[in-house]
Amino acid sequence: MNIRDRYAPSPTGLQHIGGIRTALFNCLFARSQGGKFILRLEDTDRTRSDESYVQNLYDTFSWLGIKWDEGPDVGGQYSPYIQSERTKFYKEYTGELLKNKLAYYCFCPPERLERLREVREAARSSETGYDRLCRSINPEEAAKRAAGGEPCTIRLKIPLGETTRFHDHLLGDIEWKNEDINPDPVLLKSDGFPTYHLANVVDDHLMEISHVLRAQEWLSSTPLHVIMYKSFGWTPPEFCHLPMVMGQDGKKLSKRHGATSIDEFRLNGYLPEALINYVALLGASYEDGRDIYSLNELAQRFNLEKLNKAPAVFDYKKLEWYNGQYIRMKSDEELASLCLPFAVAAGLFGAEPSPQERAVFTAAMPLVKERLVFLSEVPEKIAYLFREPELPGAEEFIPKKSDLAKTIELLQIGCGLARTLAEMPDDEQAENFIKAEAEKKEVKLGDLMMPLRVAVTGSRVSPPLFGSLRILGPEKALARVQKALKKLELSNK
Ligand code: GLU
Repeated sequence: MNIRDRYAPSPTGLQHIGGIRTALFNCLFARSQGGKFILRLEDTDRTRSDESYVQNLYDTFSWLGIKWDEGPDVGGQYSPYIQSERTKFYKEYTGELLKNKLAYYCFCPPERLERLREVREAARSSETGYDRLCRSINPEEAAKRAAGGEPCTIRLKIPLGETTRFHDHLLGDIEWKNEDINPDPVLLKSDGFPTYHLANVVDDHLMEISHVLRAQEWLSSTPLHVIMYKSFGWTPPEFCHLPMVMGQDGKKLSKRHGATSIDEFRLNGYLPEALINYVALLGASYEDGRDIYSLNELAQRFNLEKLNKAPAVFDYKKLEWYNGQYIRMKSDEELASLCLPFAVAAGLFGAEPSPQERAVFTAAMPLVKERLVFLSEVPEKIAYLFREPELPGAEEFIPKKSDLAKTIELLQIGCGLARTLAEMPDDEQAENFIKAEAEKKEVKLGDLMMPLRVAVTGSRVSPPLFGSLRILGPEKALARVQKALKKLELSNK
């Protein structure tokens, strides 16, 4: 069997976690089976579809590094892959159904359907949907009226008194009484555009899709789709409805829980590898005892048998952990390139940093890499390497159990050491040197370092001091300590 699956988004919103999870699972499944992964744009909702969302889709997947084998941008043997360009197929196939009396013209104007709804609501009727009024019109007469230009839709004739059965790979055998299915849904709208159901089924068939892996919220459409496959005389694909993605509170993941659009994650400083790795685990398990997988490794291991039935819970903290892990795997050069846009946006330097600025930026990466959770944290953490920090009030310089006069003495010692510390080739030598000096001067190492740190970085909490001094160089290092010393001396008068 040729395995072919697809991601079939409607471009009516930004790409979000649920969507990329579906896309990723389809991509992994196709790769794991040596099959083909297809992108199809389901843009039949003319009022809600928007070009900007199509662009967002391409941008998102190019950032994630997820590629399809066939799609609107890369082409393929089943082109076009955009439903608004495929209307002739939908017309042709509804024509077949009409011919076989498995669908019918409906001339009910929207006002009638609206009134029907109101009347039922007022009567608290449990009936919903269409009342099948036009189902009984003589087909020849209906065809004449339609040919004469009378506005109409085409509806599917749901066989009554039957039960529709299908198998879901994850959920097992499912059956629905046809009476419980939306009564005779519209296939082709009066403007000649298909509804989701028609276009989805026709295209899955024409594109020879073997497996439909989609979110569980589509499960209720599947009985209808199965009836349509039967009406057309086609074999349905295999279905696998993926578990829902929930927030920690058990409700469907939404903005209330945090970022959901992939744009937000990117702008907040997430790495695509972290998102892919984490999202791949939402409802699937791979090998025990391992957390980190590349896209290729996931593709080798993906297996429908390892999908979970239970809803997947989206844990932002776990995703942050992944992000930190992937950040630490980057070389300093890679990390600097990734963080550069955030530094430019924060105004650390202009859009085109000078070679000198770039060198300082790269040299600063080892200072922050170990503790970083988001790329976006970098500019604020290392801003003091690019501009002189604003010095806090004198009290911030004073170590515990010390006072201003003693702190001034400590900083005087620091002043004498700043140059040499900045010239030390590595942390170890800098540390040995300052330890020896502290002993000589009979002061505590911590007490000596604290005011020095505030003078150089502007804060008690900062990236490692020795590395910072080294990057600043002897001149700047000394100038900062002298300036801070002056400030303390002035406040002591
Ligand atoms: N166009 C639907 C969506 O937006 C596709 C559902 C399906 O995969 O069948 O998700």
